[in-house]
Amino acid sequence: MLSDLRKELLYGGRALVRDNMLSRQLVKRLGRHETMDDAQLEKLRKGLLHRSLQTAVDKLPYYRHVPRSFSVDEADVVLREFFPVLEKHTLLDNHEGLYPNGGAKRPWEALGKTSGTTGTPLVVLRSLQSVQMEQAFIKRHWTWGGYHDGMPRATLRGDMIVGLDQQRPPFWFVNRYNRQLLLSSRHLTDNCIDSIIDKIEHFGPAMMQAYPSTAYTLAQYLERRGKKLKIPFLFTASEPLYPHQQALVTERLAGQVMDMYGMAERVAFATQCEHGEMHVNPDYSWVEILDDDGKPTSGYGHIVGTTFHNLAMPLVRYRLSDRTRWKPGRCACGRNFPMIEPVTGKLEDEITGGDGNPVSPSVLTFAFKGVENIRKSQVAQVGPGHWELRLVPDKGYSNADREKLLDNIRHLVDATVRVTVVVRNELPNTAAGKFRWVVNEWRPAA
Ligand SMILES: [Zn+2]
Repeated sequence: MLSDLRKELLYGGRALVRDNMLSRQLVKRLGRHETMDDAQLEKLRKGLLHRSLQTAVDKLPYYRHVPRSFSVDEADVVLREFFPVLEKHTLLDNHEGLYPNGGAKRPWEALGKTSGTTGTPLVVLRSLQSVQMEQAFIKRHWTWGGYHDGMPRATLRGDMIVGLDQQRPPFWFVNRYNRQLLLSSRHLTDNCIDSIIDKIEHFGPAMMQAYPSTAYTLAQYLERRGKKLKIPFLFTASEPLYPHQQALVTERLAGQVMDMYGMAERVAFATQCEHGEMHVNPDYSWVEILDDDGKPTSGYGHIVGTTFHNLAMPLVRYRLSDRTRWKPGRCACGRNFPMIEPVTGKLEDEITGGDGNPVSPSVLTFAFKGVENIRKSQVAQVGPGHWELRLVPDKGYSNADREKLLDNIRHLVDATVRVTVVVRNELPNTAAGKFRWVVNEWRPAA
């Protein structure tokens, strides 16, 4: 476990890197992009794309065949014609061609790692500048919720704050360098929750950062205790945010949820605005939505992104397993940032009903309509047309709750799917403290 001194150094050091003058200037500069019109944004974006593509051709042997002499105006056409869509396995199989310097990390570069929850972890090299830019984009999003450096904030994510075996407060650490209350999400338990709730109330954060699942667990505890915390904004990230989570969280924990979509590969970044819309940040990367044949689509497709800011290892047309579609129109918030529908989790975790068609998590939430006495749940696909509904029951749980669930599924979700209800003592989080509410543990042959 981290000693207090080491925590001071770790979080104090992070604050120095992340919350300095330069970072404030970057946030200010990014803020100006929010009022740009279409033509100004397009000019900015093409310039950034041009820079990324030129760097890719210069640095990566994989793109040696691409002609280097193209103008800023031609950048998007060159992108589509000369740069193939890359998948994760392409990157893993072409280390020599797609990693700069043969993949050797230079001392001034940072390493990023994907979690590997759904397969082989991937390592990417990051420039220090891209690390600072990332923080600036996150902070620009925070300003959408009125949050600026120096205001108190609480963090309830996967950080190891105190040892798991510790059963007496504090279950938190106050990083005084930037007024951050770091809470241990592993101590959201019957034993520890009351002191955690008291601490948050006393600290009075202007906003909280959390995983959707940790915020939801806290909101459930608040509900059971008949309590409410009034944190103005909750910034969620790193997991899909489901409607049932958003509903309870805004009732019990925070005035407004501001979700953020990003990934370790950092090729796309979308942020939810005050009006609830998800905006792709057009100055972060070049985002395409492509169908299964790699063609642009206005329907649902894969998110494919090209970095603008990580020139240490420019990822070009990198395909993610996440899916969404463009949402036409303008948002009332006034930003000229394109809108997308909520990102529907990882394709690997898509589950299918009795007829073999995908069932959206939003529809799945209807299974729990009017059902009480359940602490935690998980829906897993375990075979063709077969789900396992895993439940951690609350004290009053009975057969009536189970029947209600099955009845809901038959009438509101899918009449033909086979459902097995399994009662568990615990549904563990992943090593990073995240929780996957919908999982597909059965893979169709394809
Ligand atoms: Zn908006």
